[in-house]
Order: sequence, then C-alpha cells, then structure tokens
Amino acid sequence: MASRLLRVSGALRALRRPPPAPLRAPARALASGGIPTDEEQATGLERKVMQAMEKGQDPYNILPPKRYSGTKEDPHLVSSISSKRIVGCICEEDNSCVIWFWLHKGEPQRCPSCGAHYKLVPHELLH
Ligand SMILES: [Zn+2]
Repeated sequence: MASRLLRVSGALRALRRPPPAPLRAPARALASGGIPTDEEQATGLERKVMQAMEKGQDPYNILPPKRYSGTKEDPHLVSSISSKRIVGCICEEDNSCVIWFWLHKGEPQRCPSCGAHYKLVPHELLH
C-alpha cells in the first residue's frame, strides 16, 4: 500500500514539472518576443523563392500572369523552360471551364475555342 502511494505522489510531481525542452517554444522565438517570421523559419526552395520575390523576380511562376489583349499584335506571353508548355485558356471572364492546349515555340498560336493569341517565350532562369 505504501509503495503504491509513493508511486501516485511521484506521478503528481511529474505533472507539476515544466514540460521537457522539446515541447517549449525555441529560445530564439521567445527572445524576439513571439513566433518566428516566415523569413526567419523558411528554408530550402521556399527560402529561395522568398528571396527572389523580394528582388521582384518570379522564378517559379507563382504570381498570376500579366494581362495582354490576346490579339495578333499583343499575344498572351507564356514563359517556358522548354520548347512547349500546356496552357489553360479561360475564354470568357465568367467561364467555368478551361480550354487546355499545348503551346509550341515559334509563331503565336490561337486558342481553339475563343481564338485568343498565345506566344511562347523563353523563361529566364534564376541563377
Ligand atoms: Zn480561349
């Protein structure tokens, strides 16, 4: 009986102890007064993308494409790292379906549904 009471009181003492170190917030976050920012905790590809976007670059086409009129004189410019890229055309603003087609290097091509012009341009890679 006595040994069982000792075990229970030992368990209560363990509950009162502060959590082990890995469960606490990192010391750096506490020192700066809160949760680390995206810049502080981003690593790898995410960090490279954030650094590029700070310089005004968009190496992975994360931002929405620029708007062009889509005419023969002002085609939609689609960047690609190869000689072709698949394109989705939302022919009219409120369309719920997307027309997908392959855009190839060279002369501008037209959307098979609405006829908007698209032109493939080489993508400037991040160095
Ligand atoms: Zn279209």
